[in-house]
Amino acid sequence: MDSRQNTNMMLQAAKPTSPTPSGPQKVLRKLGLLRPIDLALHLPLRYEDETRIVSLRDVRDGETVQIEGTVTVCEVRQRGQRQLLVTLDDGTETCLLRFFSFYPSQQKALAVGNRIRARGEIKGGLLGWQMMHPSFKSAQGDLPLALTPVYPTAAGLPQAYLRRAVQGGLARADLADTVPAENLYTIAGQAAWSLQQALTFLHNPTPAVALATLEDHSHPAWQRLKAEELLAQQLSQLQAKRERAALRAPVLSPQGNDGAPLQQRLLAALPFQLTRAQRRVSEEIASDLARAIPMHRLLQGDVGSGKTVLAALAGALCIAAGRQCALMAPTEILAEQHFRKLVGWLEPLGVKTAWLTGSQKVKERRAMLALIASGEASLVVGTHAIIQDKVVFRDLALAIIDEQHRFGVAQRLALRSKLQGAVLEPHLLMMTATPIPRTLAMSYYADLDVSTLDELPPGRTPITTKVVSDARRDEVIRRMRDQLAQGRQVYWVCPLIEESEALDLSNATETHAQLSAALPEVTVGLLHSRLAPAEKKAVMASFVGGQLGVLVSTTVIEVGVDVPNASMMVIEHAERFGLSQLHQLRGRVGRGAAASACVLLYSTGDAPRLGEMARERLKAMAQSNDGFEIARRDLEIRGPGEFLGARQSGAALLRFADLLTDTALLDWARQQAPLLLDHYPVQARQHIDRWLGAQLEYLKA
Ligand code: ADP
Ligand code: MG
Repeated sequence: MDSRQNTNMMLQAAKPTSPTPSGPQKVLRKLGLLRPIDLALHLPLRYEDETRIVSLRDVRDGETVQIEGTVTVCEVRQRGQRQLLVTLDDGTETCLLRFFSFYPSQQKALAVGNRIRARGEIKGGLLGWQMMHPSFKSAQGDLPLALTPVYPTAAGLPQAYLRRAVQGGLARADLADTVPAENLYTIAGQAAWSLQQALTFLHNPTPAVALATLEDHSHPAWQRLKAEELLAQQLSQLQAKRERAALRAPVLSPQGNDGAPLQQRLLAALPFQLTRAQRRVSEEIASDLARAIPMHRLLQGDVGSGKTVLAALAGALCIAAGRQCALMAPTEILAEQHFRKLVGWLEPLGVKTAWLTGSQKVKERRAMLALIASGEASLVVGTHAIIQDKVVFRDLALAIIDEQHRFGVAQRLALRSKLQGAVLEPHLLMMTATPIPRTLAMSYYADLDVSTLDELPPGRTPITTKVVSDARRDEVIRRMRDQLAQGRQVYWVCPLIEESEALDLSNATETHAQLSAALPEVTVGLLHSRLAPAEKKAVMASFVGGQLGVLVSTTVIEVGVDVPNASMMVIEHAERFGLSQLHQLRGRVGRGAAASACVLLYSTGDAPRLGEMARERLKAMAQSNDGFEIARRDLEIRGPGEFLGARQSGAALLRFADLLTDTALLDWARQQAPLLLDHYPVQARQHIDRWLGAQLEYLKA
């Protein structure tokens, strides 16, 4: 069951609770198990088979079994460690039960002559059968008729309590089917189970069931639940999309104003021709902007595919229509870079720009706010300072978010509320270089229109990626020297150590000192999160300007930075990064015509085996330069929960369905959602409420 285990529940199960959990009720609430239906939909992680007793004569080494017998020996021994040793005789053979911690009450329950049922993993050996710390109980009463479910839980909420609560929820919840019977999917011609049937079964499966089909979620009852869950997700996204379609947005069309000329003048002024993919996407965006419905489009394109110019072209349409456009980037460095680039492109064409960041001087900021409020500035570039309360646009018609995956739910909500309230809703364009695998795009992002840049500008030489042990650092430095001698520049990235900013800093500082000593012929710069924004800006500017040969940096450079002369990147402790993040980082090189290299240094450290595993994972990076392929592997390795990041997805993660394997169910849900919404609106609402309840607010973000 492991690979399929629902990520959300696992997260909840692992979440530390308050040090003094005050009552299981409180924990239930924390786990979001409020309504009867929430409890009914809280499904077992696995089952314990207490329905059978296996005779010791028939057990096999390593099996988890339940045995029953009479205690013939019960003694406490001091063998290195104090332990309780109990011998159980079931009439066929004996088994030694070994306990390292035990209460007097347990010792008493295991007194000689008592009849006991013990459950655990049985091991064979020279000394005969043994069980370590089995669970046990007095062998009175009948065997249960159903497998015992084990639920995801948290500290302070015992299984027994949770089991009762779930059974109670199951009895009280309204489980009427929302999907009309004729619309249900069929598996190999078999009719689907009703929701009531499926839930009753999953909470109380009969012993005759093949446990494997419950564990791999292939059982028809699981299929039904997964289909329901996927349908809820599709319904809510489709509903959000329709709600948006009912809103009105300004028409930013080249017809009827002089939209086209500004865009065309920009195109003519660019030092390059658009790629075919860029032209296609630019048209997709233009046709959205020409409609009176707010655009909600995600532009995904691998690092270096040229998304910025598409933002500028969209902005040009908006500005030519006499309205304002805002571009928001996740870091000051990136915002600054965009600002410079867009100013370079658009100011010569008579476009007035404003600039907003958190670190701005009060006076400058006030001036910018005035330009924005009066509408004098038709293009505003900045960090999330753009979505703060004080910022008032005269008539914002297009908001562009670069590297949207870097913004959290809260920030996206803030942007939403900034966008709302106007008579006309602005258009929204989100850009990302972390491509979203197809199945994720169809599920989590089903309410977005997606444009894909699937072509890199011409003249790029693919990046060569090497996975190298940290022990060969000197060799790497020699390679750097070659690059530097040719007038090229090098990035050296140190990982961000989240627990300790101080450690993080010392790591980068040390590397900086080491490289400065090893490469006296060039200047080595240092960039990290503790620098004041102005210092960061200065360091970055001298790297862009070529005064710095090497830039040692923490991951602040991760997104979007564009220095075409940089031809080599070294990533220290590459094993600490996610694959997609490495790909992003690597995308900082290979931006010019020169052949570029990326060196992934991994450290075997004190755990050579761990180092070995990391190396295997890093090989995936060396093998592919394709962001989609890497994202797919990353998704496989980490699962959607981590891939999307909790920040990104809010609480709306799928709990049961698995996007990698349940594609047929996803297709069914995608097909059903519009039918249900059109023809059974009441049931559709009921379905969404049943599954998503209070989480809905998140989905809107
Ligand atoms: P990303 O998609 O990663 O944001 P950028 O927009 O930063 O990529 O573009 C990467 C580099 O490619 C920039 O220097 C940009 O000016 C350049 N570029 C963009 N489009 C083209 C093109 N069609 N031909 C040549 N160079 C281009
Ligand atoms: Mg970019």
